[in-house]
Amino acid sequence: MIIVLKNKTTEQEINELMSWLTQFKVTTNLVQGVHSNIIGLIGDTTQIDIEAVQAKECVEGVQRVQEPYKNANRKFHPDDTVIEVRGRTIGGGKTQVMAGPCSVETEEQIITTAIAVKQAGATMLRGGAFKPRTSPYSFQGLGKEGIDLLLKAREVTGLPIVTEIMDVSDIDLFADVDIVQVGARNMQNFTLLKALGRCDKPVLLKRGLSGTLQELLMSAEYIMSEGNQKVILCERGIRTFEPAMRNTLDLAAVPLLRQKTHLPVTVDPSHATGIVSLIEPCALGAVAVGADALEIEVHNDPKNAWSDGAQQLTPSKFAQTMEKIKALAEFMGKPVDNVG
Ligand code: PEP
Ligand code: MN
Repeated sequence: MIIVLKNKTTEQEINELMSWLTQFKVTTNLVQGVHSNIIGLIGDTTQIDIEAVQAKECVEGVQRVQEPYKNANRKFHPDDTVIEVRGRTIGGGKTQVMAGPCSVETEEQIITTAIAVKQAGATMLRGGAFKPRTSPYSFQGLGKEGIDLLLKAREVTGLPIVTEIMDVSDIDLFADVDIVQVGARNMQNFTLLKALGRCDKPVLLKRGLSGTLQELLMSAEYIMSEGNQKVILCERGIRTFEPAMRNTLDLAAVPLLRQKTHLPVTVDPSHATGIVSLIEPCALGAVAVGADALEIEVHNDPKNAWSDGAQQLTPSKFAQTMEKIKALAEFMGKPVDNVG
């Protein structure tokens, strides 16, 4: 249930209403927004008489919420969530571009690529240290050593780092990581989601291969219901009957998610398509439909990459693509962040 308060409601009126609501044993969540103040009620609200609430002097309106996600619901939190990461804002009217290799391979590879993506205008560095691979015989990532190399690359470039966690037991290794990614295959690893919900760290939550948008939002809810509100959603393509691309990029999910939730939305055209020539058009499509951020795979030498060589851009192709992204993002009113 959502209670929308009148514009000029005083602190005292809010406190009185909040204490009146305690009798119903629901969790109350006061959100003081730019345009309005609301109280979100989570729990069993069946005992609450809407008319009794409506009758309170300071109440503008009351709405029952049908969706099973509450914390992530835009009705509960009308303003966009803005997540700050080392001076960059995700969801705050800027576009962030997370770029870097699929996997961290060597010091030279990650540093060279990090410098190149920064020069081209990327605002964050991505790179996998723990890799979810279809085959157990494929390269599985450098693990802790990969995180250490990412931290080195951050020291050299100043770019915040985004990297994937696969197992809850590795959580301590991510203490210095700026954004923890939950990969598509772990979207419904509820133990992992709950553990990340108890951390104070932004989480980039990728949509599962066959995850519906409601399931994605429920996974965000797992993290948020434990306390961590810093969730960034990521559309990375879903599995359909179409075999021509690695996955099918669901671009319409972006504006729909932005209607349903206040959380920022990222698009990953690399895993969505798996085809180098489709990265630029799909990245631009993502900006055009309102994405808050992009995640793009870039490798200093894609032909010799240890994973996902077919979808990684060269630094020079990425630089060309960035020019178009910057121009379109500017036109869309969400310029690519420029933190120097
Ligand atoms: C990745 O970003 O490295 C990755 C494995 O992506 P996804 O979980 O979307 O497949
Ligand atoms: Mn990859």
